[in-house]
Amino acid sequence: MATTSTRVFVDCREMPSENNCSLRISGTPDEVVKAATQHAIASHGHKDSTELASEIRAALKPEAA
Ligand SMILES: [Zn+2]
Repeated sequence: MATTSTRVFVDCREMPSENNCSLRISGTPDEVVKAATQHAIASHGHKDSTELASEIRAALKPEAA
């Protein structure tokens, strides 16, 4: 089980998107989910929902050491 001190990232290029976004967000899982959710809403027109947050959480990848 991942701890909150583990850094993870999401890469917008690997998410389904319509605007070829290349943003990469890294930090602790909670930080990344929060920031990526706001980004998805602001830049990708997603609706704020628990589904969105869990989709983003499922896409988290561990930051390479
Ligand atoms: Zn994006």
